[in-house]
Amino acid sequence: MTSVEIKGISKSYQPGVPVLKPIDLKIEAGELFFLLGPSGCGKSTLLRILAGLVEPDAGSITFNGREITTLPPEKRRAAMVFQNYALWPHLTVFENVAFGLRVEGADRARIRREVESALELVQLADCMNRRIPSLSGGQQQRVALARALAVNPALLLLDEPLSNLDARLRDTMRHEIRRICKERRLTALYVTHDRQEALSMADRLAVMQQGEIRQIGRPEEVYNHPECRFVAGFLGDANFLEGEITPAGKFRSHFGEFALENPSGCTPGQRITAAIRPERIRFVDTPRPGSFRARLISRTFLGESCEWKLDADGLELTVTESAAPVRVPGESFELEFQSGHLVALRG
Ligand code: ADP
Ligand code: MG
Repeated sequence: MTSVEIKGISKSYQPGVPVLKPIDLKIEAGELFFLLGPSGCGKSTLLRILAGLVEPDAGSITFNGREITTLPPEKRRAAMVFQNYALWPHLTVFENVAFGLRVEGADRARIRREVESALELVQLADCMNRRIPSLSGGQQQRVALARALAVNPALLLLDEPLSNLDARLRDTMRHEIRRICKERRLTALYVTHDRQEALSMADRLAVMQQGEIRQIGRPEEVYNHPECRFVAGFLGDANFLEGEITPAGKFRSHFGEFALENPSGCTPGQRITAAIRPERIRFVDTPRPGSFRARLISRTFLGESCEWKLDADGLELTVTESAAPVRVPGESFELEFQSGHLVALRG
């Protein structure tokens, strides 16, 4: 298994337009690590730098402590799975998967063994002799994955590998890719703009914005304790509240005073933004310490949950509930923040 360390990697394609500000990142051996961020934030560029397809302006990359920054792609054993699969349509499944091994000069017996094992892993062993155009999108995606796995890579790089699949197949493939990475004990770096994909699959993830990493952590950590407005909003729906820190270290908004999950680092008198997820606000039957009133504006049925919009003294709040009773818009209700879920943001 390979650990990867990225130190001070930066890149501009045009002078004065940095695509990657210096990036530092450590990926543990055997980890399925995600880079999550909006389109254009530099994810693919970082992945291509790791693969050796793009040269960084500065910085270093090590695999297991060994510097590989200037090694050509074929010497790094970093295999990439592309969004559009990049398969050869005129070759069979077998030949596509064998490609990397032939480049390496592997003998026939090894090629057969590795190709069969990779196709077994992606559950395509019986499609070996099929041609690419006769396969479904999902099957083509598996072939691309098998091709990367066949060379027994030190690092598996996946660039939005599921974005061309329909929703149901994406779900299945999420599980499959995670299972395969764990079964093969692979170190993998997976790039996506899809938060559900990152939250459901990652061991850890880094949230990127405009060439910078804004936060790194386990999915629950980053989702529940976002450090800035961007991360809070990118990982899910969030309510943002403006307010001030009281002498007792509480958060005072115009409709009440609330305990913060992370008061350390806040100073009395400081103006801050705090965030709370819609599913962490609940309706309560009677007023109690920390509860407040809000007027119901609207209801949206979302299938597995119901989304309410409420007006808390001029601030619009979004609240979601999984099993929601009937409530009439225009009426007022008592709400409270679930303790431990109102977080102070640092920017
Ligand atoms: P992401 O994968 O997060 O969408 P990219 O790394 O593909 O982001 O792109 C980051 C920025 O760099 C974008 O503004 C993109 O237009 C620019 N860019 C990417 N590749 C090139 C290139 N080969 N030449 C010039 N600009 C590029
Ligand atoms: Mg990209």
